[in-house]
Formats: sequence, C-alpha cells, structure tokens
Amino acid sequence: MKKILSFDIDQTLNVAKTPITQEVADLLTQCLNHFEIAPISGQKFDQFLIQIVNPMLEAGVTEEQLTHLHLFVAQGTQYYRYDGTTPYNEQNWQQVYSHPLTNEQITKITAAIEQAARETGYWEEDKLPAGDEIIENRLSQVTFSALGQTAGTEEKYAWDPDTKKRQAIVARAKQLAPEFEYEIGGTTSINAFTPGMNKVFGMTHLMEELKVEKKDILYFGDMTQPGGNDYPVVEMGIDTITVRSHEDTAFCLRGILGILG
Ligand SMILES: [Mg+2]
Repeated sequence: MKKILSFDIDQTLNVAKTPITQEVADLLTQCLNHFEIAPISGQKFDQFLIQIVNPMLEAGVTEEQLTHLHLFVAQGTQYYRYDGTTPYNEQNWQQVYSHPLTNEQITKITAAIEQAARETGYWEEDKLPAGDEIIENRLSQVTFSALGQTAGTEEKYAWDPDTKKRQAIVARAKQLAPEFEYEIGGTTSINAFTPGMNKVFGMTHLMEELKVEKKDILYFGDMTQPGGNDYPVVEMGIDTITVRSHEDTAFCLRGILGILG
C-alpha cells in the first residue's frame, strides 16, 4: 500500500489560487489517518496556510493529524512540518530546510521574464489590480503571474487556456537567460528557477525526509503533460493520477477512503 499521498495544489486540490473546498478539506483530513499527506506547489508558505491548512482546521483537523501533513513549498525547495503543539498556532510550523536563489539569480530571471513578456506583447501591467505584482520573488523561484495574484479566477482561466501565450514568453526568456528553467503552471503562471529545482528536487527530498521510496508515493496533478509542472514527477517514475480539477481528486480520494473503510 502507498504510504504517501502527494498533491499539486492549483487545479488539483482547488480552483487556482483559492482555498480548498470544505469537501476536499474533509477528505484530506480523513486521509491523514491513513497516509502522510504532502502537497507540493510553486506557491509560498503563507498560501499553503490560507489555501490548505486553514480550511482543514475548519474541517476539524487535530494537531496530531497535522503532524502527518508535510508542506513542500516553492516546488519543494522549502519544507515545513507542524510540531504537534496544542492548541494550534501557525508559529509552530517548523521550516526543516530551505534552498533559496541568490540575489543575482533573482535579478537575472526577473529581467529576462519581464523583457520576454514585453516583447511578446503579454506584459499586461494595465490589467493589474492596485498593489499587486506580475513578478514575485518566492525565494527558491521567481514566478510570473500575468494578471497578478489577486485577479479574478474567471479572468485568469480566460487569459491563456491553451498556454500559447506563456509558451511564447518562455521561448524568449530561454534565449535571454538560458541558464534557468521555466515551467508553465496554474492558469497564468510561469515559474523560473535553477536547473533541477523543479518537483523532482521536491520529491527527492520528500523521499529522503520521510524515508520512503518512489513506489510508496501516489501523486495527483493536473499538468502532467510534457512541459507541465507536474511532468517531472511522471518522468521520475512515481505513480501519478492526472486530474482535471479538484472534483476529480475528491472522487479519487472518496474511492481510496471507501476501500480503507
Ligand atoms: Mg496545477
């Protein structure tokens, strides 16, 4: 039997950039009784709390159960776990490791993506909500979000449904700063990082930290096609379930929990 259920977040556990539903929160909480649960995504730690942990607290997750939830932040270049302290306090998430980019790398990536987006005509500063930003430093990676973090979900889905715009930006950014890797994820995002710092890095460290092998893991993701940000997990030979949305994931989890009784 699998020991670990690992999940991409955006469009696998939630509607991109929004908290998981109470149904998904409840299913994940039940899964904590049988598995170690490991979400892994390009997002920052505070988004893991907002999108995953807080809804699970509302679903009644206990502090003990939370010790089986492993947060692989920024594609697993940072790892956090809860120390079990009651009552729950978000200060008690411990950072186990972090592998940040250097300032010089961040400056280079940021310049390359901005120039690439401007040249391809997809630098949409005028559509950006006030106080938001297109390029964000997530310590271990730099993330381009075409319409910023706070734009509406529908607007984001409509922006680049066939990923053609982002493919054009990535192609140009690769010419400008070829020493970095670029991945398309979520609905409007491109993540850039140093080679090897993709989900393979995260999954490799997950196996080390949780003392498990590839065969012990079942991974859920929506971008498992070549070039997608879940593809590296498929390529490394981990069993993967491709979903279209959190509804597919919920359906699978109900099946798994149903068999376990
Ligand atoms: Mg996704």
